[in-house]
Amino acid sequence: MSRIDDTGYLSAFRARLGLPGIIDVHTHFMPERVLRKVWAYFDAAGPLVRPMSITYRNDEQVRLDTVRGFGVRAFTALAYPHKPDMAAWLNEWTADFAARTPDCLHTATFFPEGRAADDVATAIERGARVFKAHVQVGDYDPGDPLLDPVWGLLEDAQIPVVIHCGSGPAPGTYTGPEPIARLLRRFPRLSLIIAHMGVPEYSAFLDLAEKSAEVRLDTTMVWTDFTEAYAPFPVHERSRLRALADRIVFGSDFPNIPYPYEHSIQVLEHLDLGEDWLRQVCYRNAATLFGVADPASSLGRSSTTVEGS
Ligand SMILES: [Zn+2]
Repeated sequence: MSRIDDTGYLSAFRARLGLPGIIDVHTHFMPERVLRKVWAYFDAAGPLVRPMSITYRNDEQVRLDTVRGFGVRAFTALAYPHKPDMAAWLNEWTADFAARTPDCLHTATFFPEGRAADDVATAIERGARVFKAHVQVGDYDPGDPLLDPVWGLLEDAQIPVVIHCGSGPAPGTYTGPEPIARLLRRFPRLSLIIAHMGVPEYSAFLDLAEKSAEVRLDTTMVWTDFTEAYAPFPVHERSRLRALADRIVFGSDFPNIPYPYEHSIQVLEHLDLGEDWLRQVCYRNAATLFGVADPASSLGRSSTTVEGS
């Protein structure tokens, strides 16, 4: 089943806010057989308390048409290894995917292994603009000495890392805010995007964002019925979201979500933090971070897509 904004909600949302589109920093595109394994994992409940049915279980081209149909102008291809000797070939795939998908931000990944620094240097050379790290699936300490040169490279290059480091939906040996707090003491300019607002340790990750200027949070799955059922966002923390308006970026987890895409935008509207907050979160913050040009201001000169900048 493909669902291309069938209710018109998303186009009305964009028109109401005057947005040229949505930027989604948290979408998953990866080699077909890896994605099938991820889906099988969710079908069997995986890390979750109950199985999760994937709404957008389609072939790649249909998924691309679908996400574009939602008005998404730029998105990522978050792939991540769970073992050594996997990151480099995932990076080959994501580099190729970015080359043939101009609206995809070239994404790369790494794993704590001897070649990690080389893998990351190669990916940066090839144009990677965002990295993905998954502390629970990878089951590694972000402070692993094998990653020291990786964090150094990424900090120097100011390339953001979307990092799944909260203890939800399932805790791992190294999940939670403490390993990230230690990492930021050693690499204070590191640009991190805390996936899922750090579910369920929301408050501690908001603390980190308040302390570190280059720490951002993505909204992926937060406030949806699905997540509120097991890890509700504390209502008393909402005022901090307003204060961090320039550090929160929209993410969806597309295609691996058990509800229609528009639900992840509707829940942001229901926070009642105002239209400017929505403009920043759903577009402007990520546009600034990744240098995505507005179509109106590009005058046909600077790229209207994320390609080549
Ligand atoms: Zn994800």
